[in-house]
Amino acid sequence: MEQVVVVTGAASGIGAAVARHFGRLGARVVVADIDEAGGAAVAEEAGGLFVRTDTTREEDNLALIEAAVAAYGGLDFVHLNAGIGDGGGFGQDDYDAERQHRVLAVNLHGVMFGLHAALPVLAAHGGGSLVVTSSMAGVGMAPFDPVYAATKYGVIGLVRSLAPTWQEKGVRINAICPGFVRTPILPPEAIDYIVGEGFALAEPAEIAASVAEIAASEEAGRAYVLQAGSAPEPVAFPRLD
Ligand code: NAD
Repeated sequence: MEQVVVVTGAASGIGAAVARHFGRLGARVVVADIDEAGGAAVAEEAGGLFVRTDTTREEDNLALIEAAVAAYGGLDFVHLNAGIGDGGGFGQDDYDAERQHRVLAVNLHGVMFGLHAALPVLAAHGGGSLVVTSSMAGVGMAPFDPVYAATKYGVIGLVRSLAPTWQEKGVRINAICPGFVRTPILPPEAIDYIVGEGFALAEPAEIAASVAEIAASEEAGRAYVLQAGSAPEPVAFPRLD
């Protein structure tokens, strides 16, 4: 039977590329996003289903997973990928508490709701795989927006803490930490700067191929740095022993 795959933030950028990639592999793809027009278009390309989902709402996450199982009869892979940037700074002028709340709500709380909704269902349908999109900002690779960085460190904490327990139940949880990727999250001037400075800039399709590789692997509790032109590189974490 075909794999059933759910991708959040799949109307654009990395999530859209992951949805298309799995669609080409013959998977049953559920595209989740707040962007209805973009999400429906990607779902059509992937031959799948669009479910309007605001990942900051617990009930939307539960309904999304329910819709995937109802439509396709199972669940094999979930990519919790929706995210936003621009959390403001900590000076007198650029501090924005509302904006901070929004970035935490999407990047951290949204992932928590997604984990809560998906993990038991993956386990109940014979096990599977889940990937969370962190960032190189989540492993201290560059000086980023500090609020964004905190959320991206946070999701690695979730992945590392949950992975051992859920691996015993047949669900492998990993994180990806992409470097710069050419998507609308980066304004054109940021792309110009990245290219001008000679930093690696990946295309979303490259990231999608790595996500599929990680989803199929037997590993759990890992965070993989994904840079243009390089194989996924697991981050070395300190060990207890
Ligand atoms: P993008 O802006 O192209 O895509 C993000 C998608 O998330 C959009 O379709 C948006 O509508 C959706 N989204 C936002 N809030 C949502 C919500 N509450 N509920 C559902 N969907 C929501 O950006 P992207 O670069 O593809 O970002 C995908 C992920 O990759 C993000 O988590 C981002 O932090 C991460 N990331 C991006 C880069 C990069 O350089 N592009 C690098 C590292 C990590």
